[in-house]
Amino acid sequence: MSKPNLEKGICAVCGKESEYTHVCCSACGATSYRYCLQCLNAGIEPYSALVGMDLYYDQVNDNFKDYILNPSLKFHNKTVEQFNADVKKLDDDMRAYFEQQREGV
Ligand SMILES: [Zn+2]
Repeated sequence: MSKPNLEKGICAVCGKESEYTHVCCSACGATSYRYCLQCLNAGIEPYSALVGMDLYYDQVNDNFKDYILNPSLKFHNKTVEQFNADVKKLDDDMRAYFEQQREGV
């Protein structure tokens, strides 16, 4: 296993600057963020990445809930209800966007 390439940067999760950050793939999908070691080790993801999965809380599998989603919601001070409302808002915004695009054709 290669040694992680640690460098000074701003964590995408907590927003703090750290001497030791690492850019790696998010657990939320095919995208990468810069994580400080504290957030990386705790499995905390950026809130926008969690909402961006476009899955409601009950659609997420239990392992993901236990190791990623629940600790992340706690870190971001979000309830399950707030999370589901933000996913619904994303759904509504995307639906409106696509309907607008279709009307434009
Ligand atoms: Zn962090």
